[in-house]
Amino acid sequence: MQFSQIKGQNNVIRKLISTIDRNQFPHAVLINGKDGYGNLALALALAQYLSCTNKSQSNADSCGECPSCRKYQKLIHPDLHLIFPTNTTNKVKKDNKSSLFYSEFREFVFNNGGYGDLNDWLTFSGVEGKQGIINVADANDIVSLLTLKAYEAQYKIMVVWNIDKMNTQASNTILKILEEPYPNTVFIFTTKNKENILPTILSRVQQINIGPIDNDIIEQELRILHPEYSEEEIKKDAFLSEGNILNIRQAYIDKVSEYFQMFIELNRLAFSYKTKVSEILTFTETFSKMSKDIQKDFLAYCSKTIEKCWQYSIGMQFLQHPLYLAEEKFKKNYPKFITKNNLEGIFNVLEKSQKNIDRNANVKINMTNMIIKLGVLFEKR
Ligand SMILES: [Zn+2]
Repeated sequence: MQFSQIKGQNNVIRKLISTIDRNQFPHAVLINGKDGYGNLALALALAQYLSCTNKSQSNADSCGECPSCRKYQKLIHPDLHLIFPTNTTNKVKKDNKSSLFYSEFREFVFNNGGYGDLNDWLTFSGVEGKQGIINVADANDIVSLLTLKAYEAQYKIMVVWNIDKMNTQASNTILKILEEPYPNTVFIFTTKNKENILPTILSRVQQINIGPIDNDIIEQELRILHPEYSEEEIKKDAFLSEGNILNIRQAYIDKVSEYFQMFIELNRLAFSYKTKVSEILTFTETFSKMSKDIQKDFLAYCSKTIEKCWQYSIGMQFLQHPLYLAEEKFKKNYPKFITKNNLEGIFNVLEKSQKNIDRNANVKINMTNMIIKLGVLFEKR
């Protein structure tokens, strides 16, 4: 994969190239950001660039044509090693590890250009209803690969996708390697859940943060995907995707469009909780029929949106208003109701409601209480 195939992330790519060209690339990096921001695609393009024998600074990319690049593009370079979460399947009934899933993983990456998420991968590889794990068999593979000399390239490169899925035993094995780096070996880790990585590992890697993909790039992808869409529909879906290319899928757009409408409705009810009792009951009735996971997901969405409104109201610069799709009056006024006086209280109420769902509390009572408490907090702004 070449940098030219990465969607956005230009600043990060420029910095990476400059570090490599100055021979200052560290022995271990962690690309931190969502799958739909391109963490795997970037890791693979970076690995290819490091190994390219014909890179030119004027191109700011691997050449794509040298023997190394050709092998990298097929993900068959003998000095590239891929580690990713797996589990047992119908085909691999025990002792699952990455090397047993190589051909499937290559196909998966070719199908989505490096922009797939862990659930997609687990489904694709035939793991049903189980977690993906990087276990000690993978870590032992890494150790034995390290003791070999690089076959062809200057570097041996280990790309570990979703390192946060590494279990403790495997993490401890990797930690020993990171403490005493092997010459000419580069680790490129990726994660979207940095908080699940051992702090001792984190402290030994250089972190590279990647953020949402620029709106105009997402809009361009949508135009290709949906030539039938109007510009208004393109802008709406781009907004809802939040810079995550995986979120332009219809199922996600549908889900989050519904969340958005519910968020507006929930807040309207909270504003006039004293007079809208019957509407509150209708809302909680609808809410109670959704699955627990969706209920919690929706409340998390509310917290995130409120946080953005707060940031917006204190003047943080956003490309778009956090309530871009709401009608003008709501869009203009709502952020004013989130202030330093009630922000913490609002988060606490939302968090407590999520916990109540876990505790199997009565959903309708839980939601009714939440709406009233939010209304009271809005009054205290
Ligand atoms: Zn090349």
